[in-house]
Amino acid sequence: MHFDLVTIPCLSDNYAFLLRDQDSGSVALIDAPEAGPIAARLHALGWTLNEIWLTHHHPDHIQGVPELLAKYPARVIGATADQHRLPELDLALSDGDTFQFGGHEVQVIDVSGHTLGHVAFYVSAAECVFTADSLMALGCGRLFEGTPAQMWESMQKLMRLPPATTVCSGHEYTQSNAKFALTVDPENAALISRAREIDQARADDVPTVPSTLSLELETNPFLRPFDPNIRALLGMVNATDTDVFAEIRARKDRF
Ligand code: ZN
Ligand code: FE
Repeated sequence: MHFDLVTIPCLSDNYAFLLRDQDSGSVALIDAPEAGPIAARLHALGWTLNEIWLTHHHPDHIQGVPELLAKYPARVIGATADQHRLPELDLALSDGDTFQFGGHEVQVIDVSGHTLGHVAFYVSAAECVFTADSLMALGCGRLFEGTPAQMWESMQKLMRLPPATTVCSGHEYTQSNAKFALTVDPENAALISRAREIDQARADDVPTVPSTLSLELETNPFLRPFDPNIRALLGMVNATDTDVFAEIRARKDRF
């Protein structure tokens, strides 16, 4: 591993992440829910901040940017599509674009659905993807701006990444996500045991984020609309994956 990955709890249930390339010493922050805990962690680690990568425009992901920029002259990177409602960007990118971070390639993946213009950042050399409020641990973001079809499209892009990829998502919602997941996939042994581990982790005040893509593929109902057991339970054996995904999302909204 040539990278350090640090998870920083912010606000009531947000996560920000620091990714440090060990060779160059470059540090990227992914999302800025609040400056205080992020600056404190940087200080404790003796790290500077070179880049801020923004996933989407919601205040709980960007509002720490001005205060951090006052301390660190970081390069701010985000989606071209969201440029009008993000802090000023030094680099604006679209789906499929790449940029260099400490000599490593970072891939921008449009994962619209929660918002339009939401992006994920995939760093293959670090085997991690920053998904914020698209793919989440045992869940997916609420559809504020996009359609179920768009979000399912976004999920499929992330599902094609290597299964060993670390999934760094934006919130500690996993315990309630697990309770919901069990209502649509109650016989899934991997889900049942993951739900137990999550209860234990939360009882011990341990974050359940990040997770891994392989674990999400096995247990996250939003990545499993083709699963025969889920379909049978929903009475949607012959429906399209998009329709099953939409039904799971609708049930989660009512949960
Ligand atoms: Zn959001
Ligand atoms: Fe959020």
